[in-house]
Amino acid sequence: GSQARQQAISAVLNYKPISPPLNFDETPAADIYGCNVFSITEMEKRLPKQVFKSVKRTIERGEPLDNSIADVVAAAMMDWAISKGATHYAHVFYPLTGITAEKHDSFLSPDGKGGAIAEFSGAQLIQGEPDASSFPSGGLRSTFEARGYTAWDVTSPAYILENPNGTTLCIPTAFVSWTGPALDKKTPVLRSMKALNTQAQRLLKLLGHKDIPMVTATCGPEQEYFLIDRNFFFARPDLVNAGRTLFGAKPPKGQEFSDQYFGAIPERVLAYMLECEREFYKLGIPVKTRHNEVAPSQYEVAPIYENANVAADHQQLLMMILKNVASKYGMSCLLHEKPFAGVNGSGKHLNWSLGNSAQGNLLDPGETPHQNMQFLLFCGAVIRAVHLHSTLLRAVIAHAGNDHRLGANEAPPAIISIFLGDMLADVFEQIKKSGAPTSSKGKGTLTVGVDTLPQLPKDAGDRNRTSPFAFTGNKFEFRAVGSNQSLSGPLVALNTIVAESIDYIATELEKATGGDPAKLAPAAQTLLKSIVEKHGVVIFNGDGYSEAWHQEAEKRGLPNLKQTVDALEYIATPENIAMFEKYAVLTKEEVVSRQEIYYEQYCLTINVEANLMAEIAKTVIYPASTRYVGELASSGASLKAVGVEFDATLLNKVVALNKSLVATVAKLEEAASHGGGGGHGVANPKETAFYLKNSVIPLMVELRGIVDELETYVADDHWPLPTYQEMLFIK
Ligand code: ADP
Ligand code: MG
Repeated sequence: GSQARQQAISAVLNYKPISPPLNFDETPAADIYGCNVFSITEMEKRLPKQVFKSVKRTIERGEPLDNSIADVVAAAMMDWAISKGATHYAHVFYPLTGITAEKHDSFLSPDGKGGAIAEFSGAQLIQGEPDASSFPSGGLRSTFEARGYTAWDVTSPAYILENPNGTTLCIPTAFVSWTGPALDKKTPVLRSMKALNTQAQRLLKLLGHKDIPMVTATCGPEQEYFLIDRNFFFARPDLVNAGRTLFGAKPPKGQEFSDQYFGAIPERVLAYMLECEREFYKLGIPVKTRHNEVAPSQYEVAPIYENANVAADHQQLLMMILKNVASKYGMSCLLHEKPFAGVNGSGKHLNWSLGNSAQGNLLDPGETPHQNMQFLLFCGAVIRAVHLHSTLLRAVIAHAGNDHRLGANEAPPAIISIFLGDMLADVFEQIKKSGAPTSSKGKGTLTVGVDTLPQLPKDAGDRNRTSPFAFTGNKFEFRAVGSNQSLSGPLVALNTIVAESIDYIATELEKATGGDPAKLAPAAQTLLKSIVEKHGVVIFNGDGYSEAWHQEAEKRGLPNLKQTVDALEYIATPENIAMFEKYAVLTKEEVVSRQEIYYEQYCLTINVEANLMAEIAKTVIYPASTRYVGELASSGASLKAVGVEFDATLLNKVVALNKSLVATVAKLEEAASHGGGGGHGVANPKETAFYLKNSVIPLMVELRGIVDELETYVADDHWPLPTYQEMLFIK
């Protein structure tokens, strides 16, 4: 390879493991679990009984926060934090860019006598005022009124973030503008959880339950990511600036041997995972599984599910920790949906359900779902919701990165359908035929055929990796979510559309029974039958990757919104605005501003990528291939001089590719110059997004084709960028 590449490779090969290694004998995992969390247990220890009870009621029952207790909680929180070495506190919030933001303030205040005292008041705990002017607001807050407020979210525990030089108390908050509208991802999650609780309570009451604790949405996200050596990362300007490779020929060996999935984890990676896990444990992030994923150098981590709001906060922390710890091990963690073309991309499977402490998981079918009316009604609500609002679900996973992944024969297609599995599909089929299902297909047992191995209980449905929305035992798994995305958008959509469907079901049942419990069962059967008749078309248990499905889906009238620009339209349809307003999740102006921000984010991403591509092609690739042309030409001339024939095929090929490169770069630069980039925001985000998709992306694809072909011709010792082979296989 070129000198820079050679140096990167030697640096990788000379990597020395960190010493001393972490050791779980000295501090067992169970001892550190949650040690940096201001948990319920910690509060119970530190707060007066009445205050503790009041906070607990807010957390567990969703009762309004009693502001008068804030001073007491703040003082206890500060004492705890200082005992953990904290000097500062930070309101952590989640602006619409999808990142995590934090504003730090010191606990210290001058005491007027030349010293300082530590102080943290209830007012400081409850409310903060970061400068909001540089966060996107989609027109909700004009810059001359750049004020935004952060408001303490009592339901997500405060925690300590460590740094070798000190620690910080972090307080999860909602972020709203001066005039009230939400500027963040958390606020609508909280509102949608409330709506879901209200409607689920209604239905459970109709079903005869008396004691009904708060129903919460639960969420367990599976996070996929790539790890590559940092020396390669920094030798690739595209990875550094765009998070994905904009160029790179397919390696001769990709993932076709399937030798990576669940394979043994390389030592350095395992050491990294252990350290990440230790950090997760300290913060009470309940991670459970880790394994290799399908693509080379791709991995996955998954926690045990939690209250969806807490899970979303934990997810943001988890992504940050994955990135931070990687550098300590000489690696870079890539969370982009498609860092490498031609091998699998990364998703974030959002496992979702709802339940409470008395009625349990409301999507648990039990052994005999056909007799479980409660389950069938909640499951029916999800089926109806997904069918009616598939375009919204598609819209909330739409962003530039995910366009490379969805429908690319490795991730679910952009058509939203539901996989139910054999047993449930059969039960709903019976409902459709007769209204009254009479049997559930047995789960059975699997005999492995080796006497010494145990018999395994068989799952009631096989796994189907090709479905974007699959029922997996006792929860739904939304698989189309992108690896780099905040969970909040998908959670808000799911919570709200299911709340709407439960509302519909409860209202219909109330009408049909007129309050007479004896009429409930027949009314539920009739209702379920009509739901399956109207919405059953969204159920599809076959191969979602197949061409046949695309045709079949079209016949069934299921939308297929292939690209971000097609999907974003559906965030702010009149029906969706009405729904969000009805359930007090988002106002019209909040919905519209969000849509505008998402178009804008798309434009900014494509602009950066287009400009980067042009620059790398001109300043990195072209010089290398031109040098190679010079070399070929002079060896041709030398051969001629001694009377030996020179075959100019290769030379001509590279010259021709160079010529196309120059021409295409010029076209791309011209096209991109109308794309509204330049750091001043985008004037007409929607229009510009379509322009970029139709006029700039095709040129990016063309330029990539040329450069990737050049990579297969130019002498290896001239090629300037680390190759796919090197990045994915040298560890
Ligand atoms: P897989 O998807 O590979 O079958 P698991 O069955 O272990 O994996 O579950 C995947 C994720 O689903 C985990 O994060 C798990 O916590 C989560 N999960 C399990 N039950 C629920 C639930 N009731 N609500 C939300 N998520 C859940
Ligand atoms: Mg899964």
